[in-house]
Amino acid sequence: MTVHLGLDLGGTFLKWAIVGHEGGEWRCIDSGSAPTPADGGASAIVAELIGCAREASARYGPVASIGIAVPGRYDAIRGTVRFTPNIHVDWSGVPVVAAVSEAVGVPAHLVNDARAFTLAELRLGAGRGAATMVGITLGTGVGGGIAVAGRLHLGLDGAAGEVGHLTIDPDGPRCGCGSRGCVETYAQAQAIAAACGTETAEEAVEAARAGDGRAMAGLAEAGRYLGIAVAGLVTLLTPDVVVFGGGVANAGELLLGPVRDELRSRVHMTSPESVRLVQAELGTLAGAIGAAVFGAEASAARGGAGSPETAGPSAAASGRSDAGSSETAGTEGGSAEAEPSPAAVAVTG
Ligand SMILES: [Zn+2]
Repeated sequence: MTVHLGLDLGGTFLKWAIVGHEGGEWRCIDSGSAPTPADGGASAIVAELIGCAREASARYGPVASIGIAVPGRYDAIRGTVRFTPNIHVDWSGVPVVAAVSEAVGVPAHLVNDARAFTLAELRLGAGRGAATMVGITLGTGVGGGIAVAGRLHLGLDGAAGEVGHLTIDPDGPRCGCGSRGCVETYAQAQAIAAACGTETAEEAVEAARAGDGRAMAGLAEAGRYLGIAVAGLVTLLTPDVVVFGGGVANAGELLLGPVRDELRSRVHMTSPESVRLVQAELGTLAGAIGAAVFGAEASAARGGAGSPETAGPSAAASGRSDAGSSETAGTEGGSAEAEPSPAAVAVTG
């Protein structure tokens, strides 16, 4: 068995996961978290990443690779972070990958946190065994990822899968990304809370479950907009499964029901009933677990030491240098800001 470390940099918490890989099977061995020292700037964050990596490496034997999930855009070639909308530090000139890799002595790779979520659910979670999968994280922002032929699809520059920035309304509200009417402007936590008349999206879900009419209508509206985007994705990709993560996904059928309704009315080129819409299984650890898997597969693709034998080229850095994601209010992996469960794999949906 090879052992791989994943680090998930969030605005509030830095989560880590140790993932074992053997014979094509992945399992989460341990996990933990520490506060993100955002006040100390990028150098303090990198020092904390290194501290986590060294501690995990010492406790679980030499790790073969490290993956680092970031809530924003990054440069895969230079191994630097470009922009994190929810972590307000200056990343310029900070060699994140080189610093972590040199400190621990193994290859390290960056990945966007929503793509890490998608890969985690594909390998260990609700999307296990899927050939084509769409992952959607509902949190501060709406993030996403796509897997095709069983591999995470990064596109030309690592930004493939930005589900949250599909246009739903050409003249809709201005989005943080610079466009208008993106699905994120309707389905991000803040918008859902506003539509439901609650302080937070979590409260909206609770109120809707308790039968509050306004909250139920607000969630249904968000589900409808989300469903329009998902209908487009289903028509384009005909995925086996669409996995919804993040705190709002805990609404279950209150949200997914309206998404299904949109699929039934809008998807006619394939069978909408054959696409499974499910809640994520890995909870708030998905980002860290997915980062570990990504680091392992990217290292394998580059012929790194301790490479998983079954990893493919999909996770390798592409030839472009501007890899990353949403510039908007965060693809935080949904409920990434919640205190993570200490359980190795929390199936909280
Ligand atoms: Zn947008």
